[in-house]
Amino acid sequence: AGTGRFVVGGNWKCNGNTASIQKLVQDLNAGEITADVEVICAPPMIYLPRVQSTLDRKYQLSAQNCWVGEGGAFTGEVAAEMLADNNIPWVILGHSERRALLGESDEFIGQKVAYAISKGLSVMACIGETLEERERGDTLNVCRRQLQAIVNCISPADWAKVVIAYEPVWAIGTGKVATPVEAQETHAGIRKYMAEAVSPAVASAVRIQYGGSVNAGNCEELARCEDIDGFLVGGASLDGAAFVTICNSAR
Ligand code: PEP
Repeated sequence: AGTGRFVVGGNWKCNGNTASIQKLVQDLNAGEITADVEVICAPPMIYLPRVQSTLDRKYQLSAQNCWVGEGGAFTGEVAAEMLADNNIPWVILGHSERRALLGESDEFIGQKVAYAISKGLSVMACIGETLEERERGDTLNVCRRQLQAIVNCISPADWAKVVIAYEPVWAIGTGKVATPVEAQETHAGIRKYMAEAVSPAVASAVRIQYGGSVNAGNCEELARCEDIDGFLVGGASLDGAAFVTICNSAR
C-alpha cells in the first residue's frame, strides 16, 4: 500500500467564467477541510492569477497543461518555467482528453513530465485505458506502457515530484465510476509495476489518485481502498461543497 498523504486534485477543465469562478472560489474558501489531505485546484490557465489572488492558501494551484520544453516560438503554449515564475507549483500532464483530442503521445508526455520537474514543478501524471482496451483485457498493459514512457524520461528520485492519476477513460465525465474492486485492482497493479520498473521504495511512496466520475456520494467507499491515495476530480470539482466533501473523505 501507499505511504503518502492523501492528495485530491480538482480539474476544472475548460469551464467557467469570471462570475462562476468567483462563486466557486467563495464556496471553496468557506469549506472546511477537516481531513489530513493535500488539495490542489486546477483552473483554466487564464483564470489562474485571479484564483491565485483569491483562493484560500489551504488549496494549492495547478495548471492543466504546459509545453514540452523551454518557451520560445510555440504559439499558444505556456512553458513550465512560466508556471514556476508565477508560483504555480503543480501541473496536470497526460490527461486523456489531451491524449485523445490533441494526439499527445506517451513519449511526448514523458518528455513533458521530465521538463516540468526540471523546472521545479510537481506533476499529476494521468494514465488510463479506454473501454475497448479494458474489454480486451489490456488495462494494465496500457497503464504500464504509459508509465514506461515516463520512467524512460525521469530519474527514480524525480518520482517524489509525481502523483500518478489513474483515470479509466470510460469513467471520465460519464457518470460510470469504477467499482472500488476494479479501481483497487488496477492501483495495486500500477504499484507492482512501479516496484519492478523503478524500485520498491518508489512504488510504496508514489501516490496514486483515482479519477473518473468521483462524486460526493461514491468517494468514501473508494477512499477506503488500500492503494487509492487520492482523487483527481473533474465535474464534481466545479461544485465547491461537493469537492470539499470529496477532500474530507481522505483516509
Ligand atoms: C478528469 O477528467 O480528470 C475527471 C476525473 O473527470 P470527471 O470527474 O468529470 O469524470
